[in-house]
Amino acid sequence: MKITKSKQIFNRLSKSIPGGVNSPVRAFKSVVSNPIIIDSGKGTTINDIDDNSYLDFVGSWGPLILGHAHPSVIKEVKKTAKKGTSFGASTLLEAELAEMIVDALKSVELVRFVNSGTEATMSAIRLARAYSNKKIIVKFEGCYHGHSDLFLSKSGSGVAELDEPNSAGILDKTISSTITIPFNDSNAVKKVFKEFGSRIAAVIVEPIAGNMGVVLPEDGYLKTLRKVTSNYNSLLIFDEVITGFRVNFGGAQTVYNITPDITCLGKIIGGGFPVGAFGGKREIMEMLAPLGPVYQAGTLSGNPVAMSAGLATLKILSNKNIYTKLESKGAYLSEKLKEVFANSDVPLQIPRCGSMFSLFFNSKTISKWDNISDQHISNYKKFHYELLEKGIYLPPSPYESFFISTKHTKNELDIFVESFRETLESKS
Ligand code: PLP
Repeated sequence: MKITKSKQIFNRLSKSIPGGVNSPVRAFKSVVSNPIIIDSGKGTTINDIDDNSYLDFVGSWGPLILGHAHPSVIKEVKKTAKKGTSFGASTLLEAELAEMIVDALKSVELVRFVNSGTEATMSAIRLARAYSNKKIIVKFEGCYHGHSDLFLSKSGSGVAELDEPNSAGILDKTISSTITIPFNDSNAVKKVFKEFGSRIAAVIVEPIAGNMGVVLPEDGYLKTLRKVTSNYNSLLIFDEVITGFRVNFGGAQTVYNITPDITCLGKIIGGGFPVGAFGGKREIMEMLAPLGPVYQAGTLSGNPVAMSAGLATLKILSNKNIYTKLESKGAYLSEKLKEVFANSDVPLQIPRCGSMFSLFFNSKTISKWDNISDQHISNYKKFHYELLEKGIYLPPSPYESFFISTKHTKNELDIFVESFRETLESKS
C-alpha cells in the first residue's frame, strides 16, 4: 500500500499541531502502521489522500451509524447552513431534537445540549453534586468519560478515596473526591458505599463499556448500581455517549431496563457534528441556570447545523426495524468470525451488543480492565496492520469498539471475515 502523501501530510501536521493530531489516538501510536490522512468518505468506505480505499469499521468512533455522508443528513445540513450557521440564540431545531430524545429515553424529561461528550459528563457531575449536596464521584476502571480534570484519575494503591492523577496537570485536590473501582464488581461497589455512601454524590458508568473495547455488564450488575445508589440517595449517571441510539433507539437503559437519574449523550445525536447532551428527571435538570443555581453554558450549544444533522439521523433511526437489521448484521459477523478462529491457536472473544462489538484475542471472557491480556495487545497490532493493508479500517488501538453501520452489506461483512481468515492462515 502506497501512503506517500499521507506521510508527507502527517509531517506537515506535526509542524504546527502537537504530535500531528487533535486527539491522541489518531497518531496510531498503539499500532504498527503509519497514520493515514483521510480525504473523503461515502457509505461504508473511506478514502485516503493517496487514493487508497478502506472498508470502515470505526465510523468516526461511533457517530456514523448511517455511514459516511448519508444523503438525508447532507441534505438537511445544507438546507440549514444556507439559512445561517450560528446565532447563539434559540431555534426550532433544538426543540425538535430535544423532543425526540425525551420521547426515546424514558429517564429523560429535560435535556440540555452541549458540544461534546466531555462537556456532557463534566456538566452532569456538577449537576449531580449540586442536587445531592455531596462531593464524591465513583467511576470504573476502563470506562472513559471524556478528558475533564475530575475523570483523569486512576485508583490509588492505598485507601480507596485516594485516586491518583493519570495525566500531568491535574491537581490532587480536583480528583480527591473521585473513587475508581473495577467494572462488573458488585462487591467493590457495595464496599465503597459502606465506607463513603453518605458522601457519594453519584456513580457514573458506561452501561456497556466501550472504551476498553466492548465489555458487557454482567447479569444484575446495573441493577446493583441502581439499588445501591438509590439506597444512599446518590445519583446514577449513565454515560451513553456511545450506546445512546446505538444499541437501541432507547439506549442501553432500554436494553437493560434500568432508569438512571442522569443520562449523557453524544456521537449519534450530532449525526457527525460536534454535539453532546445530558438529561434526566425534571427536578434535577431544573437546577440548571437560568432556572436554578448550577451554571452551565455554551456559545455554540444547540448549533442549528449540528441539530439538523442529529435530527435527520434520529428520524431515520426511529424506524425500529433498523435495530433488528443491525442486530442481525452483528450476529452474522460474529458467527462467521467465530467459525474462522474455531480451529486456530489464536483465541478470540467477541463481546457485542447489536452493531457495537470488539475483538479480544483473549482466552477468557473480559469482564473488567485487568482481564485484557498482553496476548490480545500483540495480536491486535498484527491484525490491525494486515487488515489495513487489505483495505479494512479498524480502530488504531486495541482498547476500542468496532461499529457496523446501516450501510454495511453482507458482502462487505464477508470481506471483513475473509480478511481475518487470510491473515490468520498466513500467520500459521
Ligand atoms: N463518554 C464516552 C462513553 C465516550 O466514549 C466519549 C468519547 O469517546 C466521551 C464520553 C467523550 O466524548 P467527546 O470525545 O465527544 O468529548
